Amino acid sequence: MKTIPLARPDITQREIDAVVEVLQTPNLSLGPKLPEFERAFAEYCGTRYAVACNSGTSALHMLMIAAGVGPGDEVIVTPFSFIASANCVLFERGTPVFADVDPDTWNIDPKLVEARITDRTKAIIPVDVFGQPADFDPILAAARAGGRSIVMIEDSCEATGATYKGKSAGAIADAGVFGFYPNKQLTTGEGGMIVTDRRDWADSARSVRNQGRDAGGGWLAHARLGYNFRISDISCALGIVQLERIDEITAARLRVAEMYFERLAGEPRLIHQKVIDGATVSWFVFVVRLSDEYSREDRDGILTQLRERGVGCSNYFAPIHLQPFYVERFGFKRGDFPVCETLADRTMALPFHAHLTEREIDTVCTTLKSLL
Ligand SMILES: *Cc1c(COP(=O)(O)O)cnc(C)c1O
Repeated sequence: MKTIPLARPDITQREIDAVVEVLQTPNLSLGPKLPEFERAFAEYCGTRYAVACNSGTSALHMLMIAAGVGPGDEVIVTPFSFIASANCVLFERGTPVFADVDPDTWNIDPKLVEARITDRTKAIIPVDVFGQPADFDPILAAARAGGRSIVMIEDSCEATGATYKGKSAGAIADAGVFGFYPNKQLTTGEGGMIVTDRRDWADSARSVRNQGRDAGGGWLAHARLGYNFRISDISCALGIVQLERIDEITAARLRVAEMYFERLAGEPRLIHQKVIDGATVSWFVFVVRLSDEYSREDRDGILTQLRERGVGCSNYFAPIHLQPFYVERFGFKRGDFPVCETLADRTMALPFHAHLTEREIDTVCTTLKSLL
């Protein structure tokens, strides 16, 4: 039996040619494709600067450094995300402070963010979960209220192509972060990007990604503690073509999402993420939530049976605060963030990529409905 894959990158001959072209030059890293990719990406998002690196996780880490997050600083994050959204705070010895999500949008709840702000809050990292922008305006208002200067970093790793009130995802807060793993809308194999209007943050990230070297300094001159977070020119060449094709890719993904909606319409046992006013979604994954009558065990059983019938699928996400090292370190337990837990127990990612066929979607939806 052939399995319908959960995700698949959208690679054409143009990407292959672009990669081969780089391989025929001596510039496999720190060559001309890096600034070309960064310029194109900054222009796409409408920001002054873009800094490319080897992963979305590294991009988040570099922004924690740029923002000066350190021991004693609190950073407000969502428990319903990929682990890196909170781990980046731990990398710099800060304290992640979780605020629960909204039951309908599945994104961090602005009212709960406000309630968790203290004198030690240094930053807030809203995540655009599954390609839908978080509701930034009320969070920004809370971050600025009473003369506060809390920095806002957007984890837009899942949202290349999404918009919030006319702005590109990533360009809404002080800085945004993208990830280019092969399941993302735009892939470079591995890769990430920071976008920002802040020159000091862009300069900091360019240095940190390259072993703490300063622009114009020598190869063995290290002005600060840095890492090797560089991205190769091979990956950048791939990213440049993917970015040229991004409208085509996101449009194809939207068509697939619409085909799913048609086939799952009127099924009250399947709940979809609510899109907020003023936002447009860029489809990253197709996640449905089972209604409350189902338990986590029921959901896991359905996932197992879907896989046995050749449908690639997964739970999505597992609550970050319940990962074993968060439990051990901070004493979190079930019940701490109930909206996130109820949601995480019941969400399922179905096969989703730009080239899913109508027949495959029929198979997925018929199989899923028969298991409900
Ligand atoms: C993909 C992703 C990242 C970054 O992942 P990398 O694998 O490090 O590129 C960060 N946050 C979220 C929410 C993501 O989905």
